Amino acid sequence: MKIITSLLAAAAMTVASFVAPAFAEDKGMVGISMPTKTSTRWISDGETMEKLFKDAGYTPDLQFADDDIPNQLSQIENMVTKGAKVLVIAAIDGTTLSDILQKAHDAGVKVIAYDRLIRDSGNVDYYATFDNFQVGVLQANSLVQGLKEKFPGVKPWNVELFGGSPDDNNAFFFYDGAMSVLQPMIDSGDIVIKSGQMGMDQVGTLRWDGAVAQARMENLLSSTYTDAKVNGVLAPYDGLSIGILSALKGVGYGSGDMTMPVVTGQDAELPSVKSILANEQYSTVFKDTRELAKVAVNMVNAIMTGKEPEINDTKTYNNGVKVVPSYLLTPVAADKSNVKDILVGAGYYTEDQINN
Ligand code: BGC
Repeated sequence: MKIITSLLAAAAMTVASFVAPAFAEDKGMVGISMPTKTSTRWISDGETMEKLFKDAGYTPDLQFADDDIPNQLSQIENMVTKGAKVLVIAAIDGTTLSDILQKAHDAGVKVIAYDRLIRDSGNVDYYATFDNFQVGVLQANSLVQGLKEKFPGVKPWNVELFGGSPDDNNAFFFYDGAMSVLQPMIDSGDIVIKSGQMGMDQVGTLRWDGAVAQARMENLLSSTYTDAKVNGVLAPYDGLSIGILSALKGVGYGSGDMTMPVVTGQDAELPSVKSILANEQYSTVFKDTRELAKVAVNMVNAIMTGKEPEINDTKTYNNGVKVVPSYLLTPVAADKSNVKDILVGAGYYTEDQINN
């Protein structure tokens, strides 16, 4: 009997020693709310964080909201109900989360705004993002470089402007950054916005939708460019750039004497990288989403261990209620001359992915 008891005890201990570490290491649940899967960057952001959180002993709950606001709200609500300790959120509409974040705050849940600022809420603890104004500066600098390179004898240059989604705080930073370069050239007469459409209220593209950008470009071409040529298009995101390029190709740009206008972009999405190498899209802005994921995971780790997360900006991102302490990463401009080196060098894509 004694032997049986001690055997049972030993067995129990063995079970315990298998099970216990798993419990001991479980540092709690982290909700990761991403906006959509239609752009590959968000899949990469989400999956990188999921892996890093798992490796660090957390239980991640990764959700994508299909660009549907009620969907994102209910996913976040669910995370709070299930007992998440921290939420990492890339908002679809940065102004719609106040109520659910109040609930989160009341339950003691910390909130990190991921890539996109969450507005109109005091319950946003930290913000992990890139230098979004600088993204716009890089886009505009590259547009000007391309205009000089492709249209050296033409002045003024005819340019059209596209903005991102007006419910995404980033879109204004991209636009303002770009205009800090372009406005002086518009004022001096080097650049003409031939349609006259300027300002985020006129050039914004709801939900960053490429089809919407394509339709607007088609309209611009038929209304404004029947007897003039467009030389450049400021596009803030690769998904829009591809739509804009379709509209341009549709009326013959890129063949014969119709030089393809300079079209910018952002995110280094694979179709755009290929388009750049095929001399269609002119440039993109590479933001290493793996690095951003690391920043967010480090913030969570610090919060959960009672430390102050590392931040490097305390003045830029006022969300309407507070200035959210932020960590900004540096974006990198890429065009045909360096896109392959930058992306393959960073291990973001393999040479095969780019070439095939
Ligand atoms: C991100 C960009 C992205 C865009 C569309 C923005 O908030 O910062 O990287 O291109 O959303 O998904």
